[in-house]
Amino acid sequence: MPKKTLDLDWLITEYMPFFSEFGMTEENVRGYYETWSKNRPALIKDYLWFIFQSLLYESAKQSKTEQELYKYQNMIYMEMLWFRRKVEKVKANEILQLALASLVRKTISETNLQLKVEIISGNCCPYCDNLNQQMFFSEDVLKNQYLGSRDCTNPKGCHCTYAFVPMRDEDAKLLSSFS
Ligand SMILES: [Zn+2]
Repeated sequence: MPKKTLDLDWLITEYMPFFSEFGMTEENVRGYYETWSKNRPALIKDYLWFIFQSLLYESAKQSKTEQELYKYQNMIYMEMLWFRRKVEKVKANEILQLALASLVRKTISETNLQLKVEIISGNCCPYCDNLNQQMFFSEDVLKNQYLGSRDCTNPKGCHCTYAFVPMRDEDAKLLSSFS
């Protein structure tokens, strides 16, 4: 495959579906670039990173509910992760951790059920595979960040994720987070 040039057209082709989720139009993206690229080396990667940061900031400011906030955070971190890994070819486990933390918070905020968090490793590395299918409380997962950790030795970056399992009482009744 020929190496793609990372220019404004590449950015538009690759990211317009994502940007439009935040109400941005192609005109916005091209227009901001004009302003942004004045008086600086206009690297498209830097511009993209600037947009990611702005989206994080704006969505945090404008979200009206926790659900909204974490949904947007998760979307943005996942896009950042994809960019770091697929385009820049770095592990970016620190971004995976941010993406996973927002995934955990988002999932908790969207349900009234008490959930446990299960690690799904799928042949990541010996360390993560050891954790496969272990279950944790969400508070512990947020505190300890089991995945994308320094112990993960996958050279391409940790590719594990969490699954969410509703908790049940002795009578197999689902536990609500309000009980
Ligand atoms: Zn791993």
